[in-house]
Amino acid sequence: MRTIPHYINAESISAPGELPVFNPATGEVIARVPLPSVHDVDDAVAKARAAWQTWRHSSLSQRTNILFTFRHLLVTHSEELAALITAEHGKTIADAKGEIARGLENVEYACGVTEHLKGDFSSQVADGVDVHSFRESLGVVAAITPFNFPIMVPLWMAANALATGNVVILKPSERDPSVSVRLAELLSEAGLPAGVFNVLQGNAVTVTQLLEHPGVDAVSFVGSTPVARHVYNTATAHGKRVQALGGAKNHMVVLPDADLDIAADAAINAGYGAAGERCMAISIVVAVGDIADQLVAKIAERVDRLSVGPGDDPTSDFGPVITNEHRQRILSYVSAPDPGVTVVRDGSGLAALPGFFVGPCLLDGVAPGMRSYDDEIFGPVLGVARVASYADAVALINANPYGNGTAIFTRDGNAARLFSRQVSVGMIGINVPIPVPVSSYSFGGWKNSLFGHSHIYGPEGIAFYSRAKVVTTRWPLASESQIDLGFPRTR
Ligand code: NAD
Repeated sequence: MRTIPHYINAESISAPGELPVFNPATGEVIARVPLPSVHDVDDAVAKARAAWQTWRHSSLSQRTNILFTFRHLLVTHSEELAALITAEHGKTIADAKGEIARGLENVEYACGVTEHLKGDFSSQVADGVDVHSFRESLGVVAAITPFNFPIMVPLWMAANALATGNVVILKPSERDPSVSVRLAELLSEAGLPAGVFNVLQGNAVTVTQLLEHPGVDAVSFVGSTPVARHVYNTATAHGKRVQALGGAKNHMVVLPDADLDIAADAAINAGYGAAGERCMAISIVVAVGDIADQLVAKIAERVDRLSVGPGDDPTSDFGPVITNEHRQRILSYVSAPDPGVTVVRDGSGLAALPGFFVGPCLLDGVAPGMRSYDDEIFGPVLGVARVASYADAVALINANPYGNGTAIFTRDGNAARLFSRQVSVGMIGINVPIPVPVSSYSFGGWKNSLFGHSHIYGPEGIAFYSRAKVVTTRWPLASESQIDLGFPRTR
């Protein structure tokens, strides 16, 4: 049985495999992942800290060169990386390649670090006095990532963290950890010095050790809301800078004037893509006014054409979910629906397969207070909520505890503009169901979808991974020097 190593100080470190890694398409255990000891965590942090002493002073052109080479390596290895992702996560190869492409964007953005780290300069703020600012790295960044984007989310974090002069310890999800080791190897191949990017395998215990470790300066976390809250509370209590992105329940509003075929296609793509295991997946379609019956029928008709199968089969629209336990949890929303909910499509027909497959499920009539509305199901289950008016749709979204993404489908520009101003949500799509910002903007939700003030990647990512220094300068002539104990008064 293959054991997935740690990668510390540019060395692959083998350790006894403890947790199983499944191929979700077959249900077989294909590898094992080790759990580090307290000593292993201390050692990784010490080596990363030592590497920071040099890396923090590296030139921006050296960092840019490495990132450019790394970008090229990611492109040339994309087939291999996509296959690794599919084998452990289960998503289709096409979807894995999409994830790689969105991760690449962040590397490209980080290649512009010379532009992004430019400081300010003010000449003659007082007589003979100039002021300038610049930004420096934080130190050791712990990057803790979820299973659903095993390469993109690490790249959201690592690209900007490395470009700004930090060193990184990535603790990937224990469910699909192989690709993170390849990332580390490719960074080394690109010329990144030893110890600057490290991978420490592990689970919740490992995370807590990193959160409490005095040698860790900052924490970037992406995962579920309860864990994000715990990470934020623990790491800030230990004096660290923290951004912790959590879960979601994303609503897609369809106004009566929308093209219902376009809306139904979008609901299918965003609801069932990657088996619904995306934090920006649409999980609730909000049908406004009298279009609901027609919209549900159009979605159901498209559900019947979906093909569910192994991610490496090019005919599969989506693959299995991550574990058998997760499959059983997802199916409970269909086998025991909330009172008042109609199961329009039941995807439990694949439940007997050894692979962790769930067919597309469609629930009509979901509403707040029901499990199927309130919970982040994180599977191929789309709920339809029926509301009377646009105002009811906005009220529904704003009352929801999550605020990651939302979308509106309409031909009415003013309604769309108002919607973008009125919803308490971080990322909004207008006729775009999954509005993940391009890398020159930052990604982040509101409310229980993000703890901490900083969104991830883009300009806010650069700001998160760096801190400002402001220098006030005077070159006085000897004749101008005098004793004056007062606070500067002249203006
Ligand atoms: P998860 O919270 O279970 O795990 C995320 C990471 O935290 C993993 O590395 C895991 O080892 C670690 N972890 C798990 N339990 C922990 C605990 N009790 N204490 C400390 N660390 C712990 O999330 P997941 O199941 O891997 O990923 C799916 C979740 O991530 C969904 O809720 C999804 O919405 C969310 N997500 C959010 C975003 C976003 O940008 N907001 C992006 C992707 C995924």
